[in-house]
Amino acid sequence: MGDAGAGAVVGDDRLGAVMSDAALIRFDNLTLGYNHHPAVHHLQGEIAAGSLLAVVGPNGAGKSTLLKGIVGELRPLQGQVELCGIKREDIAYLTQQTTLDGSFPIVIYDFVAMGLWAQFGAFRGFSQAARARIAQAIEAVGLSGLEDRPIGQLSGGQLQRARFARVILQDSPLVLLDEPYGAIDANTVRDLAALVRHWNDEGRTVICVSHDFAHVREEYPETLLLAREQVARGATAEVLSETNLKRARSLAETHGELPGAAVCSAEVTSADAEHHHR
Ligand code: ADP
Ligand code: MG
Repeated sequence: MGDAGAGAVVGDDRLGAVMSDAALIRFDNLTLGYNHHPAVHHLQGEIAAGSLLAVVGPNGAGKSTLLKGIVGELRPLQGQVELCGIKREDIAYLTQQTTLDGSFPIVIYDFVAMGLWAQFGAFRGFSQAARARIAQAIEAVGLSGLEDRPIGQLSGGQLQRARFARVILQDSPLVLLDEPYGAIDANTVRDLAALVRHWNDEGRTVICVSHDFAHVREEYPETLLLAREQVARGATAEVLSETNLKRARSLAETHGELPGAAVCSAEVTSADAEHHHR
């Protein structure tokens, strides 16, 4: 990477040397963007299996874009994302919550049960074992007794609990969360954060986009700070230093003055890099 910045905590070499055996995700000169314009560029490095990694950065830093790149919703403009031992369709991916999520006419039970579709297919009827798993997932997120409630009637916190129950059923080794605690109550944040810790204790890799530095300091040992490029990555306390955050802000402001400007358009290779399949 050209200018990783003085604040970069973990260099590519160190990262590779330490983690190469257990890498779950590899970024190789990864540039992602839209309509040929890079949104986040030249990422390099690995994410080890079993990581509990926060992704932070200013608005528009490319955090959501990076998750889309990992699940394959966005094809790289340049470079690649390599997944080691996991298929893209097996990744549990919780997108940023929108009001649209609650507008689907479906009750909690069926909404949660959709987490099993990848394994059983839709509308095939669930076995007794599957039904037991659905009940357990609903219980784990504290929604027992509300199975028949239409999701349109749920609070933001309850809806997020239901979405987490779906992730439980997906039973994926890799969980991607995009600002999961945006507009929800403190009790729900506490319960869902405990669930995330539990997933990580089980050996799952969790990558979570967050703008809550206090939460990240408390819950995530490792952090990636983005501002359209990697500003820093490594131990959370070191990454979230004043120097690094200042640099991230100033990078974001620089790009803000040039809306839509291509950061490295000369290097973009693919003609039509954006595609949609979700
Ligand atoms: P973050 O999640 O860090 O706030 P995003 O990854 O959503 O940032 O966005 C990074 C940049 O890409 C922003 O400049 C944003 O405007 C742009 N962008 C995001 N989604 C799209 C899209 N679907 N089409 C075009 N540009 C997009
Ligand atoms: Mg985002």
